[in-house]
Amino acid sequence: MYEVMIKSGFSAAHSLREYGGKCEGLHGHNFRVDVHARAKKLDGTGMAIDFRILKEKTQIILNQLDHTYLNDSPYFSEINPSSENIAVYIFKNLEKETNDGNVVISRVAVWESESSCASYYEGE
Ligand SMILES: [Zn+2]
Repeated sequence: MYEVMIKSGFSAAHSLREYGGKCEGLHGHNFRVDVHARAKKLDGTGMAIDFRILKEKTQIILNQLDHTYLNDSPYFSEINPSSENIAVYIFKNLEKETNDGNVVISRVAVWESESSCASYYEGE
């Protein structure tokens, strides 16, 4: 298996419902996002997936979240826009655009601060 990773990010506000702590109030983060993709085979140029293409696909999804109040998004109307759920959202949307039988999105990590990160992945 080959694995590649790109880094990106977006800025957004959220509030966590029924949290009962500081994060229940409206506040924002400069979220950092790491996207990992795996491939069984390399293409003719020796790449698993072109970094540029993976970055572009990621950016399209992050642009939908950038400078928004995440709780207003229909996806987060019922479920909390926690870093974990944001990672799922990015993972599910990105795999629709990327998985092709060779390349699969393997992990999405969402950092809400320098020291706090939540990841989502599927499988074992
Ligand atoms: Zn927060």
